[in-house]
Amino acid sequence: MVEVPERALVVTPHPDDAEIACGGTVGNWVRQGTQVYYVLCSDGSKGSDDPKMTPQRLAQIRHQEQLDAAAKLGVKEVVALGYPDGELEDTREFRKDLVQAVRRFRPQVVFCPDPYRRSFYFHRDHRITGQVTQDAVFPYARDRLHFPELEAEGLEPHKVATVLFWGPEESDTYLDITDTMDLKIEALRCHKSQISGLSEEDATNWLRNWCREAGEKAGYEYAEGYRKVQFRT
Ligand SMILES: [Zn+2]
Repeated sequence: MVEVPERALVVTPHPDDAEIACGGTVGNWVRQGTQVYYVLCSDGSKGSDDPKMTPQRLAQIRHQEQLDAAAKLGVKEVVALGYPDGELEDTREFRKDLVQAVRRFRPQVVFCPDPYRRSFYFHRDHRITGQVTQDAVFPYARDRLHFPELEAEGLEPHKVATVLFWGPEESDTYLDITDTMDLKIEALRCHKSQISGLSEEDATNWLRNWCREAGEKAGYEYAEGYRKVQFRT
């Protein structure tokens, strides 16, 4: 179980990952009063097969799609870091961006991709985002002598209680999203550039089936599965 927190932070590598991975939980928690914030790490500028699309135009389209999807779920703010799609690296700059977000939004729960999968298939940006987020949460956001320039800006250290990694090889935590499954799908539909050319059904049925399978493992109609790391209660 994970208690519904006052504040949660979602760190998403690309526009649409957050809705696919944790949109049901976000929608559910927002309805219960949680303030949810997004950090969108890359600009999504490589996600198109259209020969006429340019990276600049795609980045603009996908930024707006992400804002629309987040608004649908009731997310309070989206911070876009704007790194080029496919080029996220484990750098001091990226780590500092995430420490800054953690210290500013002061979440009890942070969502991000699970970077530690033995089998292959995760996008490199997902691995890097998961790894840098974990490091930013612990210990960099916690310890005041890391990034002293942030403390000078008035951002105090912050201790996150829980990280929920999405996309693990084995989930140990299933959260019931039965009441927000339809909302999750509505939010995914905002990412029109990613589902164009697919029928309404093809675009979203796989997501519904995936969440139904996760739900079966936990006795819910629909669920999202995570690997939980608890730093404190
Ligand atoms: Zn992605």
